[in-house]
Amino acid sequence: VPLIKLTDVWKIYQMGEVEFAALKGINLEIYEGEFLVILGPSGSGKSTLMNLLGCLDMPSKGTVCLNSKDISELSESELTVVRGKMIGFIFQSFNLLPTLNTEENVLLPMEFQEENRQIARQKVSYLLDIVGLSNKKKNLPSQLSGGQRQRVAIARSLAVNPPIILADEPTGNLDSKTGDYILDFLDGLQKSEGKTIIIVTHDLELVKYATRIVYIRDGEIEKIETHPKNEQSM
Ligand code: ADP
Ligand code: ADP
Repeated sequence: VPLIKLTDVWKIYQMGEVEFAALKGINLEIYEGEFLVILGPSGSGKSTLMNLLGCLDMPSKGTVCLNSKDISELSESELTVVRGKMIGFIFQSFNLLPTLNTEENVLLPMEFQEENRQIARQKVSYLLDIVGLSNKKKNLPSQLSGGQRQRVAIARSLAVNPPIILADEPTGNLDSKTGDYILDFLDGLQKSEGKTIIIVTHDLELVKYATRIVYIRDGEIEKIETHPKNEQSM
């Protein structure tokens, strides 16, 4: 059973009198433990697709099912719960709260779940260790580099241990060393913990991490390739 299943998904944006179809009949099944790389040029519909996969938006036509459940049948509060428990977002605008330090920003989604504070703090310590920011716990976002901020956002997105991680252009504004570090880290999560990683990018370099590559163009899937390098390890 696919974890996420898109059936004849259309997304039509309405701009006054004008309609624009950003996604045109997408059919896609995503299985647990996949490292999916969605590739396509600017304007091809990648972000639109990502917002649907993250239950942040609804299709104009067709269905998006998460764990066999049609997301359009969920209420806004049910969707919030699904997003909080199931999905870690690594998006371009990190949305770190500027008045909270590194530790507090990572702690935020956990407190939302009303976890025991002591356990939550230990988890934050562990996560900041993983992303290499143990020495930046008390820094505000403004006192961190872009790459460090991105790593805080990654730690925060992992804080609730989501089974699915969605990353929109994760290497977009990072130096190549930090980008490699983050991708290797996500690769490790997929390989050792069986997490489902879905990355949207126009960076061909990232296909080396993929178990499958989805090529999207003008709102349609052009082709899907199983990545030969990772095929055997699956
Ligand atoms: P990508 O992420 O691949 O660059 P997007 O999903 O952001 O592509 O956009 C796909 C197409 O949909 C583009 O042509 C874009 O102009 C259009 N589009 C995106 N969002 C909107 C919107 N809110 N209203 C109208 N058109 C939009
Ligand atoms: P982008 O810069 O790619 O457009 P957004 O500003 O839409 O990204 O989202 C940034 C962050 O905000 C994401 O990490 C996501 O977790 C969160 N987010 C955005 N919209 C929502 C929403 N409706 N519900 C919950 N979280 C959201």
